[in-house]
Amino acid sequence: MHSSASDGEMSPSELVRFAAQECGVQVLALTDHDTVGGIDEAAREAQRIGVKFISGIEMSSSWESVSIHVVGLGVDPHCTLFLDAMKRLCRLRDERAREIGDKLAALGIPDMYEQALRFAGSEGNIIGRPHFAQALFEGGYVPTVQLAFDRYLGRGKPAYVISEWGTVPESVHLIEKAGGIAVLAHPGRYFRLNESSLEDLVRTFVEAGGRGIEVVSGSQPSAFEERCVTWARKYNLLASTGSDFHGLHAHRPRPGEQGRLPEHLPTVLEVL
Ligand code: AMP
Ligand code: MN
Repeated sequence: MHSSASDGEMSPSELVRFAAQECGVQVLALTDHDTVGGIDEAAREAQRIGVKFISGIEMSSSWESVSIHVVGLGVDPHCTLFLDAMKRLCRLRDERAREIGDKLAALGIPDMYEQALRFAGSEGNIIGRPHFAQALFEGGYVPTVQLAFDRYLGRGKPAYVISEWGTVPESVHLIEKAGGIAVLAHPGRYFRLNESSLEDLVRTFVEAGGRGIEVVSGSQPSAFEERCVTWARKYNLLASTGSDFHGLHAHRPRPGEQGRLPEHLPTVLEVL
């Protein structure tokens, strides 16, 4: 799940309370994009209300010029090597955000970097395209948040800036160094990769030391689960599930509502 430390709507402690008390979740992971800034607050709240908490991250990574998300579960949020790498990613995000702002300004839409920063919240939070989408929507430049991506921010659109994240193996190694299990996030969302490059990605991930795959995700079509099950078996990957919850405004399952993992697969949770 995502908190306001990245592009989620709720603060880390609100999110933990919401998942546990409103949705009946018994074990949850905070996996903000490229930051562990929300982990301590979430962990404290989880302990206070008595729900099992897993510290996590979702690292932006590049593979064949496609953005791939590598989730790390059970990471030590105080590992300095890891924190340094996250700082680098946040800097990259800030540089990219300034470029997006410049491109929008050139299109006659001024001040969007500043507005997006406002939606990103306090310093230390990461800034992402969803914050720009919100800024464009609130500024009246698009009638819906989705249209901000379709018209400006999506790949190939006029305010798109290519993101130069680290490689998938680099993300896997960092997660490992921080004591976590690397999980390939929502493979069913990389529709820019054809079937064989998708399997190449899985193989690359496994060769780098990746140990898990998201078989069930709130942001991946359930029709894709069967293929993930096949890869989990073929490559000995641990199965993982997540709601990918960002808040009540996104049209996604609520925490815990993303469906169950097939029973026969070994899971990341068991190993953690
Ligand atoms: P970022 O990591 O800052 O590049 O933002 C990526 C996030 O923006 C994704 O996780 C999605 O939530 C959202 N996103 C990216 N592309 C689109 C799109 N074409 N339509 C809707 N949302 C998108
Ligand atoms: Mn993701």
